[in-house]
Amino acid sequence: ALVVRNRMRSSGKWAPVAAVVKELEGRCATPVGKLRQVADAMTVEMHAGLASEGGSKLKMLISYVDNLPTGDETGLFYALDLGGTNFRVLRVQLGGKEGRVAKQEFEEVSIPPHLMVGGSDELFDFIASALAKFVASEGEDFHLPVGRQRELGFTFSFPVRQISIASGTLIKWTKGFNIDGTVGEDVVAELTRAMERQGLDMRVSALVNDTIGTLAGGRYYDNDVVAAVILGTGTNAAYVERAHAIPKWHGLLPKSGEMVINMEWGNFRSSHLPTTDYDQALDNESLNPGEQIFEKLISGMYLGEILRRVLLRLSKEASFFGDCVPPKLEVPFILRTPVMSAMHHDTSADLKVVGKKLNEVLGIPDTSLKTRKVVIQICDIIAKRGARLAAAGIVGILKKIGRDNAVKDGGRTVIAMDGGLYEHYTIFSECLQCTLKEMLGEEASSSVVVKLASDGSGIGAALLAASHSQYLQPVLS
Ligand code: BGC
Ligand code: MG
Repeated sequence: ALVVRNRMRSSGKWAPVAAVVKELEGRCATPVGKLRQVADAMTVEMHAGLASEGGSKLKMLISYVDNLPTGDETGLFYALDLGGTNFRVLRVQLGGKEGRVAKQEFEEVSIPPHLMVGGSDELFDFIASALAKFVASEGEDFHLPVGRQRELGFTFSFPVRQISIASGTLIKWTKGFNIDGTVGEDVVAELTRAMERQGLDMRVSALVNDTIGTLAGGRYYDNDVVAAVILGTGTNAAYVERAHAIPKWHGLLPKSGEMVINMEWGNFRSSHLPTTDYDQALDNESLNPGEQIFEKLISGMYLGEILRRVLLRLSKEASFFGDCVPPKLEVPFILRTPVMSAMHHDTSADLKVVGKKLNEVLGIPDTSLKTRKVVIQICDIIAKRGARLAAAGIVGILKKIGRDNAVKDGGRTVIAMDGGLYEHYTIFSECLQCTLKEMLGEEASSSVVVKLASDGSGIGAALLAASHSQYLQPVLS
């Protein structure tokens, strides 16, 4: 009896731990058959969202961008990028086909957290004042013809219903922003008023989502760019659609025959998505329950939080970190995705990075190697589910535009990619790439290129401001 009891004691913790991990693994599984169902569901929802307003969880927003940059853009333009944890201001001197981006300068400012959940005027005043300071620092090597007003491309990375290239109303906040009084308002008018309060004379010439900015910036450097994907704090995609394939578009057919669509794929949901109780609880307790379900499985704002929830359950139900539950583990969003990534990439024999992060971030000292290994295993399950689902989303787009099969003429299909998750979480991005190959097959995937375009959305917005400048002569034909 004594022997049995001792054995129970030494394995007592690990049996329930293994059971929890195994259950997680099962529920997060993304065999290729399931991914195909997700991709197909994405394609179906794309059709539905294009057919009618409110026809799908996918809003498939019309961007009013029917011409992407050509390289002919010239002049001084500003851009402002708001949407993640930082915002960025940028100025570029565009020099046409020869000069290209002759000169550029930017500044990045982090947004004080209280402004993300405060009032609308406070947020816009903060942005406008940073922009005004930046404009004041404009040097001699930037040229604005006399008598002209400065123009701005405004990258606003939230769902916006546009009625023209330079106006649109906020549909909802996402990614931890929750500000009273902005939903339903024209964000260009909000920004313009805030600029006036700062005494800043500037005109917003283009309002774009970050996916649209990234697509425009990507196209400027590479003619084969047909879509853009963001994998950062949030996630989303945009692509070039044929105008006559947008039944809900009742305006004039653009001359180009094309229209860029902001999918807002973060709000995609489907019964085929592999979800767990952790996801359910995360969603219930989030700022936007029932919304952005795809985003909550994939993006940087949430991966670390899912990991925290799994570790908390292990701690409570299997004494994973000893007899007491580490108090910090109870704090929502304390475990950020960059920390998860650092642990996940730890290749040292004793996993000392994992040990160090658990100690520093969660106040859990002295973890055993076995414990650290389990932590990595959980990171792996969560990150790979996200990466594989993102790949399935991309395949959904490729199917919609008929680019999911092998091409004979050596043509390329380029997807401009931006976002810290893709850029910095190597295991995530490698898994996404592999999954694309797995789903498309060797031959078809060889013509599909995912091209990192870090912060391409700023340049993209400036380029779109240039091509929609108030000073451009309308081309008559
Ligand atoms: C927003 C999108 C944005 C994406 C990436 C999502 O939460 O709804 O508009 O493109 O994040 O920044
Ligand atoms: Mg960004």
